[in-house]
Amino acid sequence: MVIANTKDVLSEARKKLLKNKIDTKEARLLLARAMNVDVGELVTIDYCSDYDYKVFLGYIERRIEGEPFAYIVGYKEFMKLNFEVNKNVLIPRDDTEVVVLEAIKQCKENILDMCTGSGCIAVSLAKYLEKSVIDASDICANALAVAKRNAKRNKVKVNFIKSDLFENITKKYDMIVSNPPYIKTSDIENLQKEVRMEPIKALNGGENGLYFYDEILKNAKKHLTQKGIILLEIGYDQARDVSLLAKKYNYKKIRKIKDLSNNDRVIYAERG
Ligand code: GLN
Repeated sequence: MVIANTKDVLSEARKKLLKNKIDTKEARLLLARAMNVDVGELVTIDYCSDYDYKVFLGYIERRIEGEPFAYIVGYKEFMKLNFEVNKNVLIPRDDTEVVVLEAIKQCKENILDMCTGSGCIAVSLAKYLEKSVIDASDICANALAVAKRNAKRNKVKVNFIKSDLFENITKKYDMIVSNPPYIKTSDIENLQKEVRMEPIKALNGGENGLYFYDEILKNAKKHLTQKGIILLEIGYDQARDVSLLAKKYNYKKIRKIKDLSNNDRVIYAERG
């Protein structure tokens, strides 16, 4: 049954979004998703069905409740690739592209992405470093299921390993990359509502936010080749602490790399 004029539906939704300080551009994208059409096609469609209209209103409500846009539409673009996301995985952040770009520059043969989540780092590396062998691990089976689908979706081969940090890791690598959970436990309740809808396990870095850096740096040496390197995404204020940890475990040539907003975002270190 044809009921609603798409232009009216959109303008009504834009008003609601605006009132809630949400980018009104999302209205078109959500309507296209609800109608299962390409966003470019929307302009050519004058009416939407009762069913699609209801689905769309449901999306707008969820958005206003604070659910991230990416979870509603079910995807997020990262490194010019398209990734499936759902509540089992952290939504890929633009800042994480800095980690991937540095890893591509290093161009190593055998790479492990630890705490892979959606698989965005591992899959991007497999895509842009065609000759490398990419392994990716995560403690969470539900996250690995998403990551596996993302490898398939982007037509690359990644070897997935279910592992609590290095527990089930047996190989040695030329490069270990990781974006581990790094938010202090006490900061989690103060995060934006949208971020709090993401898996806490993927954010919680323990009391001081450094738990995973300590564990990874302490144990990575056994899994790095002689010339192996490690790249860790960090929070904007963690460069000093994570560098000190790397020093404590005797890594060499420790340096920090900034993100697009000029915040420290990556720690690079060599096994030495
Ligand atoms: N960058 C994420 C955030 O600020 C945190 C990612 C992480 O803990 N690895 O929400």
